[in-house]
Amino acid sequence: MENPLLLRVVTLCDVDHRISDITASPVDFVFCLGDLEDVWMANRVEALNPRYGAYGIRGNHDVNAPFPSNIEDLNFMNKAVVVDGRRVRLAGVPGSWRYKPYGRWLFYQDEVSEMTDAMEAADILISHNCPANIGHERPCESLAEDTFSVHQGFLGINDYISAKKPQFLFHGHQHLHKTTQIQETVVIGCYGETLHEIPL
Ligand SMILES: [Zn+2]
Repeated sequence: MENPLLLRVVTLCDVDHRISDITASPVDFVFCLGDLEDVWMANRVEALNPRYGAYGIRGNHDVNAPFPSNIEDLNFMNKAVVVDGRRVRLAGVPGSWRYKPYGRWLFYQDEVSEMTDAMEAADILISHNCPANIGHERPCESLAEDTFSVHQGFLGINDYISAKKPQFLFHGHQHLHKTTQIQETVVIGCYGETLHEIPL
């Protein structure tokens, strides 16, 4: 078996100001996990200067516009990058559950399941929302919220994990730092700016 790649990955999500002090280099990938202001995000990617690029998906508080030019769009898409002669497959799932009738990047469960069913397998999946029912959903802040389970995860992501077995999933939206193993996938809840070192 070949030696695993050790990748240095920075995730950005949910707060568009720095809440850590990552200065170590080099960084291999930056993943933008949503709910970020575009100019800030582009500047941060430029400063981190990832060797294999920055990839993004949109969150429920984001604009409906193309990403800044130094960030590649991964919204319901697959892309592959060659790292040290190995093909690293990426996939992305944007948005959150449709907790209100109007707004961008809001989806019903069935809409996401249809999209994730059609997506190809990946080594690394990035998403704004988390899988459902794995203990990463943010508790509701009021009884009114509870009625609608505002922060419910996407069942389509659970199904993607079962069927396509990504090695890693990075998600935002839930404002937590938490890692949970689901079958063969390490699910990493991210908040703010975080450096991860992962073997692939
Ligand atoms: Zn969000």
